[in-house]
Amino acid sequence: MTKSFLFLIVLLITIGVFLWSMRRIFGIIPLLKSFPIKNPWKRLKVTLEVALGQSRIFRRPLVGLAHALVFWGFLIITLGSIEMVIDGLSGKERFFSQWPDFYRVIVFSGDIFSVLVLVSILAFLARRLFMKIRRFYGVEMKPISKIDAAVALIIILLLMISLLGTNIFYILTHPGHLDDSLPISALLARFLHSPDPSQAHRMHETFWWMHILLIFAFANILPYSKHFHVFTSIPNVYFSRIEPLSKMDHMPEIEKEVKLMLDPSASPSETELPTPRRFGVKDIEDLTWKNYLDALACTECGRCTDVCPANLTGKKLSPRKIVMDVRARAKEKRVGLLKHGINYEDGRALLRDYISEEELWACTTCNACARECPVNINQPVIILGMRRYLAMEEAVVPPLLASMLSNIENNGAPWQYPAEAREAWMQF
Ligand code: SF4
Ligand code: SF4
Repeated sequence: MTKSFLFLIVLLITIGVFLWSMRRIFGIIPLLKSFPIKNPWKRLKVTLEVALGQSRIFRRPLVGLAHALVFWGFLIITLGSIEMVIDGLSGKERFFSQWPDFYRVIVFSGDIFSVLVLVSILAFLARRLFMKIRRFYGVEMKPISKIDAAVALIIILLLMISLLGTNIFYILTHPGHLDDSLPISALLARFLHSPDPSQAHRMHETFWWMHILLIFAFANILPYSKHFHVFTSIPNVYFSRIEPLSKMDHMPEIEKEVKLMLDPSASPSETELPTPRRFGVKDIEDLTWKNYLDALACTECGRCTDVCPANLTGKKLSPRKIVMDVRARAKEKRVGLLKHGINYEDGRALLRDYISEEELWACTTCNACARECPVNINQPVIILGMRRYLAMEEAVVPPLLASMLSNIENNGAPWQYPAEAREAWMQF
């Protein structure tokens, strides 16, 4: 069996499994609520700034730099991975080298970044294993989350080692060819006693296969890991909210009713909207596809919980948990939704089975979490949707809020005094 044929089989299996996973994960998107996407240029600017420029990550400069190096390194090394796929299929070696100037740039940056990524990943591993960072802990951070993070870091570490190994043994089997463009690999190659050419060739092939198989395996592990954000974070930032975070969106169905109340002459057809299945959010199908994409993009970094005033003052709320709960509930229900459609019920719900009322009412809607999130996730909008469900569908609100709402209804103000008594304070 030739190398190309073997490679083709492995590639087809990888693509097949990946597409199957994508169908399972993204298949429910047509069932979810819509989310308006306007202002493509403004979105592009936000994407360049937050996703490619990593602006939010740099709010913590040292860790931010290490994260940014891994992210930029991945972008550059991906070009090398594309070349490896072409090489594997065509049976050629270093396909892009037919464009020497371009090639020198990507090979040189790939070589430098492979070491920078490797050092950053070692630092991340040491931090996870030996340092007690507050934001890595919390009720939502189960042992599986820690194992998931460690496995991904180890795979990235092995990816960098195999990439360096491939380049080192390429230099040893092709002396003088790319030495200037692979400065670090060339330096490391000097420390090896020149192996005989056939042994060097075998080592090159071993590292080459190790690297490409790790990429294929990683691509199929990612959809089931928090590291799926490798694929989803850039689109998530592009589709993120570009209006001010503090602007609370109206519910169109309620707006319709209010318009009719304020202007009885308005024709109902002018304000016609389909009757919603449910007001607010009780379960996964009540969310927009963007809320779902948010959940898929969460890196579990805990930056949101770290700045949440409710969490900091000992309340039960953790915005990271809210996002992780959405992801876990979607995972639980999506196969049933895909099979039976939007009306599928399994006797459980996001509300109460995952997120309690206590958590929801602890939120001050300050938006600190959304402002801090490095991938522009909007946590408060999920909380708000669930509160809307509680208030409008179940009429379940905390007692203080209930009396405020009834005061607004009766007195036009949150206080228990009638409008006529408003000036009474002047008599004291
Ligand atoms: S909006 Fe709510 S969840 Fe987010 S930081 Fe403020 S209190 Fe916490
Ligand atoms: S929601 Fe954002 S800030 Fe919070 S854990 Fe997820 S990625 Fe980090």
